[in-house]
Amino acid sequence: MNDSFDVAVIGGGPAGMMAAGRAAELGARVVLLEKNPVLGKKLLLTGGGRCNILNAEFDTHTLVAKYGNKGKPLYSAFSQFDAQATWDFFESRGLKLKVEPERRVFPVSDMSADVRAALAAYMAEGKVTVKTGVSVKGLRCADGLITQINYDSGFLKAGNIILATGGKSHPETGSTGDGFKWMRELGLDVAWPEAALVPVVIRNPWVKDVAGISLQDVKLTVWQGKTKKESRTGKILFTHVGLSGPLVLNMSKNIGALLKTGDVTLSIDLFPKIDPGMLDKKIIEVFERGKNKMIKNSVGELVQPHLGHVILALAGIDPEVPLHQLTRENRLAFGTFLKDLPMKVSGLLGEDQAIVTGGGVDLKEVEFKTMRSKKFSNLFLAGDILDFDRPSGGFSLQICWTTGYVAGSGAAEGAGHLFQGKTAR
Ligand SMILES: Cc1cc2nc3c(=O)[nH]c(=O)nc-3n(C[C@H](O)[C@H](O)[C@H](O)COP(=O)(O)OP(=O)(O)OC[C@H]3O[C@@H](n4cnc5c(N)ncnc54)[C@H](O)[C@@H]3O)c2cc1C
Repeated sequence: MNDSFDVAVIGGGPAGMMAAGRAAELGARVVLLEKNPVLGKKLLLTGGGRCNILNAEFDTHTLVAKYGNKGKPLYSAFSQFDAQATWDFFESRGLKLKVEPERRVFPVSDMSADVRAALAAYMAEGKVTVKTGVSVKGLRCADGLITQINYDSGFLKAGNIILATGGKSHPETGSTGDGFKWMRELGLDVAWPEAALVPVVIRNPWVKDVAGISLQDVKLTVWQGKTKKESRTGKILFTHVGLSGPLVLNMSKNIGALLKTGDVTLSIDLFPKIDPGMLDKKIIEVFERGKNKMIKNSVGELVQPHLGHVILALAGIDPEVPLHQLTRENRLAFGTFLKDLPMKVSGLLGEDQAIVTGGGVDLKEVEFKTMRSKKFSNLFLAGDILDFDRPSGGFSLQICWTTGYVAGSGAAEGAGHLFQGKTAR
């Protein structure tokens, strides 16, 4: 690569594309290096291919609180590019957005590819040089500066470097943790990545019989032995190996921590808003209405039919028994499972299946006004490479948009000076 660049961005995911576009918008000559033949492979997977692009949480305090204890440094980055700015950015580029339950925002087209197209157009406006199929192998440094980027078939120098190589989940998309390794080698503090938002594997064989069923507003309780550890309400999804869905993903980190100290069981309350007595009345009503039917043909009025059949089996009830022959004990046992459907956790799916990996470059290594590294003054970091905790709901991509934008601004503003003075050619 013989051209001269003010800013080199490593990694063509959402954070890298946003950073490259922003630096170019400010007049920097920008190159983006991506090892895959295409940009944004992981972005295409997001939100089941629909891309939950952000969360419509427009109050900065509430938004920062979503990131837990590690969220505080974000105030300064959000003051430059928050959720409202993200919404406006994409809509002003012709990507119409809609808000779904839990304030999750998606493109009206339901296509992640349209988000990638908007970013590609942003980069094209600023004439970003996009080099795909270029795998960066490492960075050279001297005197507190990154002096050279080594890639598979050569090297490149640029005034400022933005590192946006992502985390370690779904490595088939290109996120193989290369940036973590380089940052450790350069002496930055990097917390070892662990799967953060990840599905839970369940031991009970019946789970695979209900794979694909999703349940809204159920209460999930986590137990260790006889101790109740945590309860939360939300949406779950049964998979062929266990449980997923936003509620489970958000509780997975704590479940993983508990598994290190002993066995963990889960219990689902399918009717968290009513007590067992009220539920029993409801069951009696339904069973009265269908008293000449077999029970297997009535459970669907109370619970998703396949799950109902599983619960009948767990409660030891013959599914073919006519409702008028059902004993009180049978009915109460059925109700008990609706309020307390127990499962044994055998583990979490691996980090390769996680939505995001926890861990990454420690936030204290970064100056959030510009996303500049405190150790290397021409190095900027953005996206999943940073050690944030984030819930499911569009909050991961929000980190990418915000830190990408701020890193792009920071790198472009400092670039001219460094470029003329030291490192570029
Ligand atoms: C299945 C799934 C669904 C998700 N859904 C959502 C959702 O709906 N909403 C949400 O907010 N978040 C979602 N996420 C999380 C979101 O995708 C990530 O937070 C986001 O992609 C991180 O962006 P990034 O740019 O930091 O890194 P990445 O998207 O991981 O991009 C990093 C890029 O760097 C490249 N790269 C890495 N190493 C090198 C190298 N050595 N040389 C050159 N290039 C390199 C990679 O090939 C990759 O293209 C989802 C994640 C998964 C796995």
